Amino acid sequence: MQWKPAVQSSATKILNSKLQPNREAMNTYRNFINGEWFEGSSKSVNNINPANTDDVIGTVKQATREEAKRAVEAAAASFAGWRSTPAPARGRIVARAARLLEENKEELAKILTHEEGKTLSESRGELQRSINVAEFCAGESRRMNGETIQSELPANFAYTIKQPLGVVACVTPWNFPVAIPIWKIAPALVAGNTVVFKPATLTPATAVRIVELFAEAGIPPGVLNLVLGSGSEAGDEIINHPAVKAISFTGSNEVGIRLYNDASRRGAKVQCEMGGKNPVVVLEDADLDLAVESTAQGAFGSSGQRCTATSRAVVVNDIADEFVERIAKRAGTMRIGDGMDPKTEMGPSVDEGQFKTVLQYIDIGREDGATLVCGGSRATGNGLDKGFFVNPTVFDHVTPDMRIAREEIFGPVLSVLRVKDFDEAMRVANDTEFGLSSSIFSNDAPRIFRFVDEIETGMTHINSPTTGGEAHIPFGGIKGTGIGDREQGSTALDFYTELKVVYVDYTGRKREGNLY
Ligand code: NDP
Repeated sequence: MQWKPAVQSSATKILNSKLQPNREAMNTYRNFINGEWFEGSSKSVNNINPANTDDVIGTVKQATREEAKRAVEAAAASFAGWRSTPAPARGRIVARAARLLEENKEELAKILTHEEGKTLSESRGELQRSINVAEFCAGESRRMNGETIQSELPANFAYTIKQPLGVVACVTPWNFPVAIPIWKIAPALVAGNTVVFKPATLTPATAVRIVELFAEAGIPPGVLNLVLGSGSEAGDEIINHPAVKAISFTGSNEVGIRLYNDASRRGAKVQCEMGGKNPVVVLEDADLDLAVESTAQGAFGSSGQRCTATSRAVVVNDIADEFVERIAKRAGTMRIGDGMDPKTEMGPSVDEGQFKTVLQYIDIGREDGATLVCGGSRATGNGLDKGFFVNPTVFDHVTPDMRIAREEIFGPVLSVLRVKDFDEAMRVANDTEFGLSSSIFSNDAPRIFRFVDEIETGMTHINSPTTGGEAHIPFGGIKGTGIGDREQGSTALDFYTELKVVYVDYTGRKREGNLY
């Protein structure tokens, strides 16, 4: 079917009228397949506020394998029409979605805080990042250029064109449930692919709202499909479906590597952004106030549930006592609570599983002989008893072999590793299987730039936290963190396109001489 890029096509009108039942029943989350909203036929899963488990926000009847398969088939059927729609016309729809995200920013930020737990100011930040990414990708639709290449032969030249891949699966985690889907869906659509979006089970409300806004922006039926289902059933069905040509995954190493093995066996293209164990290195000439505040932001912001969270502080002995004293004091002043309260600085862990994992790692840290300096327990009282709150925790005298120095915890737990000098700091900082983000606090240019050269992470920061990123700048990790092309920025479309080379001979004659 050829899709005609009208502002309000009849398909869009039908789509918009079908949105209403979904909006009215906001607490029942539906799948979106081929432009239709419908409840899945698998088991029901409640969406629970992690700040107060009595508050059941909504419920999902999850999609079955069969329903996930239908989503892939719908995406496959709509591919021909979408790929032949000019890229700037595709970009206009993404630009419209960006405007709708902007208009609905506050509402979406509240939904995000309600179901994921991060503070409202963090949610607003995530929304702004998402809007920026969508705007950037919409602009890229007018820059889907190739290159023109001179030939060795007279009256010959070559050029390249970028082409879409087909059906792309976007499989996303719960910790940035708006930004990560947007930074996959927007470039995938602009490049001319059709999408099956499989969000994390824990965050269906944000996923539904994102897709509603894309539908309102005029995305044709089948081009963007939402499957609310479990990873092991619906997710597994999607990533193993032969019509899915590429999978962009963000999540844990355990799932990512399994998914990579399965999909690459059948020749599908795969991009995985996975875990982190991000270090800050603090040298003796650092601005200690800045280092402490930035480390606290990186370690405890979003309750430590960022892939770029600071989980190791590698500090030289000369200043280690002072650093530990100050970071513990800062951790003790963190205001923990419901993210909806504007005074809250740190919200809860996302669910019981994550909450228990964090507390288990705190026990492991103690058992392995690290010194617990502050935190180390569930946060209770003051309205916290019904939420998954953990006190910001600092361990000192952590050694590189301890599990809390090696494994991703995904909670507000900072390990301080003391080192004698810069060389040892580099060895310790790089002694990890992960390679996402890092930072250094120093004012010594030669050592800062040696750090930049030698640190084994995909992104690094100088005198600022390990967290953060911008829409027009590539994002991603190396080593055990990342597989495949970088997301966002100048590289955003790389994963979602194939490069075709075209040779043009305008001599009109048979070629003479060596052909190679
Ligand atoms: P998971 O790996 O548990 O889940 C990620 C997604 O994969 C979810 O949608 C999940 O569905 C789905 N999934 C699970 N099993 C399968 C399967 N067999 N087949 C297909 N899909 C499947 O990660 P989390 O959601 O717990 O997210 C936290 C992780 O994400 C952390 O490790 C964090 O570091 C990482 N992350 C990395 C980032 C980066 O840029 N490097 C950025 C943000 C997070 P379901 O929810 O239904 O299980």
